[in-house]
Amino acid sequence: MRPIGDTAREAAFTQVMNYFRRNREEMRRVIQTEVDVSLEKEGYIPSGKVDLLLGSDGKLELLDFKTSPRPTGSPALLEAYERQLCTYAHISERRYDKRVHRLFLYWTAEEQKDRALMAFPYRPERIIDAGRYFDQVVARIQAEEFQVTQPPEAGICEECDLRMLCGAEGIL
Ligand code: SF4
Repeated sequence: MRPIGDTAREAAFTQVMNYFRRNREEMRRVIQTEVDVSLEKEGYIPSGKVDLLLGSDGKLELLDFKTSPRPTGSPALLEAYERQLCTYAHISERRYDKRVHRLFLYWTAEEQKDRALMAFPYRPERIIDAGRYFDQVVARIQAEEFQVTQPPEAGICEECDLRMLCGAEGIL
């Protein structure tokens, strides 16, 4: 964790206020924020945090905030975020015993809501794919396979906490 500078603090405040002004109606549907989710699996326990859980008419909606602008030309990045949302949806359904209806990303650096909000339909087959992918990644971690044979697209590395290390080791 790094201390936040004045410029970043002001930018964050602007994004928060912008979100608040454009989403007052949504506030009524908030069920919970920063929801801890975890699930016991064979040999490991995935855990995470859902930024925002919304609901009405017995249906759940999950929203994850991203502080960057809406990306263009980054399909692998969006696929990774959708996979993350699918994993959270799967866990939330078990926890609340309610069907997840929609999944959202919200790009808070975007001024206009129609640019900021990105919806993904809930597709059960994507949930199964996300679970399989997660199992594969865990298996590779447990086998201590840490080599990066092919770096992902630039947008993913820009968001990654390990980019300094990968730069120092010549991977990027
Ligand atoms: S910075 Fe390194 S660890 Fe992070 S996504 Fe890129 S290649 Fe992977």
